[in-house]
Amino acid sequence: MGQIRLLSDVLASQVAAGEVVERPSSVVKELIENSIDAGALKITIEFQGGGARLIRVTDDGSGMDRSDALLSLERHATSKIRESADLATISTLGFRGEALPSIASVSRFHLATRRRKDEVGTLIEVHGGKIAEVKDSGEAAGTRIEVADLFFNVPARRKFLRGEQTEAAHMLQQIEILAVSHPEISFICRRDQREVLRLAAAGDLAVRLRDLHGEEFLRKLVPVPAFENQGVRVHGWIARPGEGRSDRTSQMTFVNGRIIRSPMLSLPLREACDGILAKGLHPPAVLFFEMDPAAVDCNVHPAKREVRFRDPGLIRSVALIAARSAWEAAAPSGTIVPGVGSDPLFPPIVNSWKPVSHAAQGEFPSPDARISETPHEIAASSLSSQTSIPSPLPLRYLGLLANRYLLFEDQESLMVLEIRGARERIFYEQFLKQLGKGELQSQQLLLPEVLTMSEADIAWIDAHSSLLRLAGLSAEPFGSGSLKIDAVPAEAAHLPILEVVVSLVDELRTLADAPTLDHRGREVLASSVARLAAAGARQPAGEEAARLLLAQLLACDLPYATPKGRPTMTQLSPGELQRRFTA
Ligand code: ADP
Ligand code: MG
Repeated sequence: MGQIRLLSDVLASQVAAGEVVERPSSVVKELIENSIDAGALKITIEFQGGGARLIRVTDDGSGMDRSDALLSLERHATSKIRESADLATISTLGFRGEALPSIASVSRFHLATRRRKDEVGTLIEVHGGKIAEVKDSGEAAGTRIEVADLFFNVPARRKFLRGEQTEAAHMLQQIEILAVSHPEISFICRRDQREVLRLAAAGDLAVRLRDLHGEEFLRKLVPVPAFENQGVRVHGWIARPGEGRSDRTSQMTFVNGRIIRSPMLSLPLREACDGILAKGLHPPAVLFFEMDPAAVDCNVHPAKREVRFRDPGLIRSVALIAARSAWEAAAPSGTIVPGVGSDPLFPPIVNSWKPVSHAAQGEFPSPDARISETPHEIAASSLSSQTSIPSPLPLRYLGLLANRYLLFEDQESLMVLEIRGARERIFYEQFLKQLGKGELQSQQLLLPEVLTMSEADIAWIDAHSSLLRLAGLSAEPFGSGSLKIDAVPAEAAHLPILEVVVSLVDELRTLADAPTLDHRGREVLASSVARLAAAGARQPAGEEAARLLLAQLLACDLPYATPKGRPTMTQLSPGELQRRFTA
C-alpha cells in the first residue's frame, strides 16, 4: 500500500500556496530535498545550460510504487504530513506537496522510480503539467527526476532567467548548502557533462567543509562545542576571532536541517564579534540549530527560507554563547592550539603557562553561567610590569621595526606584532575586567585644568559625569563655555588632557543617546580608554620588554585583533615568502 494521501481542503489552504519555482536553483533544491527526505545516501545532480535546459537528480532513496508516483504529481499530495496538527511538528524538508506538480507544470518532466522490493519500476512523462506517458521501467532502485526546458510553456518566466553563468552559480550554491547540511550523503555534480563536484559521504561536517573549500578554509574556522539551552541545541563551526567577510554568503545557518537566513541568527553572531571584528564584516560560520519543531514556524515563506521563532531571545543567547564558547575553547588564554600553526593569524607558538580551559576538554559549564560572565577574563596581574612569565616562548626576537612593529622568528616563519594594536587589546581586556568590579584607576591632577568647550559638549559631559568617572575622568562645568577637569584615566595621564576628554566623549557618544553601564557600555568605555592608553604608552625597550608584550598579548582571551577588529599580529610563512619571490 502506498504512502501518499491527498491533503484535506482545509489543510491545503493552511499550507499557504506560493511560488515554489523561481529559477533552476529552486528546482534543484526541491528535488534534492525530496531525495534527502527519501533517505538517499547518494545523490547525483546533472545540469545543462545553467539548469534551464536540463536538471537531472538521481538518488538511491526509497523510491515509489506506481500509485505513489502518480499521486506525487498531484497538487497537495505529500507523504509527509496528514493533519494540520502535523504542521507544528514538521521534521522533513518538504511538506507542502506542491513542488513536483509545480515543477512538472512548467517543464518537460520525467520521473523514473523503483522501490527496492519491486521488480519493475515506473516511468512517468509529463509535458507542461499533462501526463503524456506512464509505463514500466527497469530503473535502479531509487528515483531519477529530469526537468528539461524549464518554463518552456511560460515564456514570461523564461525571460526572467539570467545568463547561464548566473543560473549555474545559483545552482551550485544551492547544491553546496544541501551538501553542507548533509555530510553523510555523497553528492556528485556534473555541469554540462563535466564533473564539478564529487563529495564522498563524510562522517563529519569538518570533512565535508574541507572537501568543499579546502584545508585553508577549514583552518580559518574553529568548532563550536555542542551545547543545549532550554531545548535549543547548536553545533557547527565559526571563523576564528578577527576573521570576517564583507558579505554573508559564507555564513550558513540551519534550523532543524533547513538553511535559514535570518537576522535573528546573523545579528547575534555579529554581536559576538563586537570588539574583535571591524564594522561591516561578518564571521563566516556554519551553524546548526536544533529545536522542537513547535518552537519554530517554518511555514512563513513559500520556499521555506524564513522562519519565525517562538522565543527569539533564547535563540540570540544561544547564538552568542556558541560563538564565544568556540573561541574560548579554541584559544584558551595564551595557549595556541596545536595544529593551527599554518594560519597566518595564529602563529605556531606552543606555550604552556596556562592550562587548557575546561571547554577544550569537553566539559562545558552551564550556558547561563557563560553568558553572564564576559569572555574577557584576564589576570589583572598579567599587565603589570612585574609579571613574571614562567616559560620563555620558543621564539627568537629579531628586533623593532619602524618603531612600530616587533619582529619574532619561530623555526619557520616571521611573526610581526603591531605594538599599538597589541597594547589596545591588552589594555582593553584589563580595563573590562576592572570595570566589572568598579572604576578604572584615575590620576588626580595637581592643579585642575580648565578647558574651553561648546555648551552642547559640556551639557553632555555633565549629564554623563558618573559614567565618565568610571573611566577615571572627573569633569564638571565651570562657568560658561568651560569645563574643569580634576582627574584623568591613569593610563592616559601623559596625553594632552583636551585630547583625552574629546576622544572619550566622542566615542561614548557613538553609544545610544543615554549610554549606561551595561555590558556593552563597559565594552565601549574599556575600548576608548584602551586606545588612549595604547597611544600614550612608551615603546618596549629591548628584548625583555618585547617578549613581555608578546606574552601579555597571548595571555588575552582574544589576542589576534584589537577591540575594533584590526589585526594585532601577522605571520609571514615560507609559502607566503615564496609567493613573493615567484615571477
Ligand atoms: P513534499 O516534499 O512537500 O511532500 P513534493 O511535491 O516535493 O512534496 O513531493 C511529493 C511526494 O512525492 C513526497 O511527499 C514523496 O512522498 C514523493 N517523492 C518526491 N520525490 C521523491 C524521491 N526522490 N524519492 C521518493 N519519494 C519522493
Ligand atoms: Mg518536496
